[in-house]
Amino acid sequence: MKNTNIYNEFGIDDKVLEFSENVIDSLKERFEAIDRMAEINQLKVIKAMQKNNVSEACMLGTTGYGYNDIGRETLEKVYADIFHTEDALVRAQITCGTHALALALMSNLRPGDELLSPVGKPYDTLEEVIGIRESKGSLKEYGVSYRQVDLLPDGSFDYENIKKAINDKTKIVTIQRSKGYQTRPSFGVKQIGELISFVKNIKPEVICMVDNCYGEFVEENEPSDVGADMVVGSLIKNPGGGLAPLGGYICGKKECVENAAYRLTSPGLGKEVGASLTVLRDFYQGLFLAPCVVASSLKGALFAAALYEKLGFKVVPDSKEERHDIIQAITFNAEDKMISFCEGIQASSPVDSFVKPEPWAMPGYDCNVIMAAGNFISGSSIELSADGPVKPPYNVYFQGGLTFPHVKLGMIKSLQTLYEKKLVDIK
Ligand SMILES: *Cc1c(COP(=O)(O)O)cnc(C)c1O
Repeated sequence: MKNTNIYNEFGIDDKVLEFSENVIDSLKERFEAIDRMAEINQLKVIKAMQKNNVSEACMLGTTGYGYNDIGRETLEKVYADIFHTEDALVRAQITCGTHALALALMSNLRPGDELLSPVGKPYDTLEEVIGIRESKGSLKEYGVSYRQVDLLPDGSFDYENIKKAINDKTKIVTIQRSKGYQTRPSFGVKQIGELISFVKNIKPEVICMVDNCYGEFVEENEPSDVGADMVVGSLIKNPGGGLAPLGGYICGKKECVENAAYRLTSPGLGKEVGASLTVLRDFYQGLFLAPCVVASSLKGALFAAALYEKLGFKVVPDSKEERHDIIQAITFNAEDKMISFCEGIQASSPVDSFVKPEPWAMPGYDCNVIMAAGNFISGSSIELSADGPVKPPYNVYFQGGLTFPHVKLGMIKSLQTLYEKKLVDIK
């Protein structure tokens, strides 16, 4: 018996619900695989917490300078164990993912060094960090040069040109795991490992950094398990589990992490300072929940892919592909369809459900952008959120969802919105 009544209360027609439930029924095996992955990662997190004697006192936090912050120090050991790295920097003072990445780069590069991206253009916000787009305080301004090798047309690594690009000055190689808002595929951990081995074969002392945003706990291994010297990410994405209200992390080689700490605080002070105030409980509890939250997001993304694929839309990744991050793209090819989808997401949110998302001229974009999110934590994209530039081909990117029933409702509500406006045909 399907529980239709409660969905009716959300304005969902029986026909829309039945269509959706049939799609979910077809995903049983994939869902089971996602649950098994969550189990492995959940145990990995618990093991690391037990090994480091996480205690009630670790939740309390410090003020002022933050000396002897046992909770902060223990949390960094827990992160280092999960990522199998020598050290970790996990801080509220790291304001976001871009800051964490900028910190990792700026603290480990010196004037005259070169940064290489062998996977094409990095995430938008990094363009200004690097100086690809002119910006105050960029690496370029400090005399750090940048080189980029684009992916081959089929999305694979251009090994020949990567080899040519590595030179005496090459100090860091940066690899972005998730496609972000590009159309290239996201990379699996194994694939990243192959690239790192290739690079290290040519120049063993090069530092390989992976932008791990949206990738944490999607697979059994992390890039640091396959040779990455630094993995970097945001706590309002996967590893914060929806509870971390801010923050970022850098896990890696001791020297790399130390450099980052000296840059974050000050030479001489490094990791010794940085009060944790009241965020530690959320950092710990969020990390504890993260593997299952990521699983919910993955199931939701997979459901969306299968649902919209069945309706005839192009989806990336599709419902059959292996997944390496939590992002799902859907191509609507029409403005009204794209907007209706976002309205449905917003209407299903626990917060701000009464708000209607409107396209607006967001700074830094050459067209209007529409965003849907009803978040507990502002800007958190491990919570269900969708956005996209309002121009052809009308792609919507969405990610997150703290629980699967919420993403499920979001997708069904989005379909309902399209259905009511007669923008899709349900057979
Ligand atoms: C989100 C993201 C970033 C930047 O993180 P912010 O927290 O938005 O600054 C960098 N790289 C990738 C791949 C991301 O997904």
